[in-house]
Amino acid sequence: MTRRPYVPAEARAALAAALPAYGTAKVDQPQREVECPKCKAQPGRPCTAPTTRPLSGTHGSRLEAWTAQQGGQR
Ligand SMILES: [Zn+2]
Repeated sequence: MTRRPYVPAEARAALAAALPAYGTAKVDQPQREVECPKCKAQPGRPCTAPTTRPLSGTHGSRLEAWTAQQGGQR
């Protein structure tokens, strides 16, 4: 009995192309490119709560800052 891959290589490649974030976590938060005006998290670093534990997301004000930056560059 031959074991076959759960997902064919072609399908795996297609899935990776359709989902850029597939296999590379934390690249779906481009707003991390800018410093967070809320918690002062440095670019590339995740936002932190007052207790200094990492947030699963980012502060809304950081997203706004990033959005403003994007708007200024385009
Ligand atoms: Zn923050």
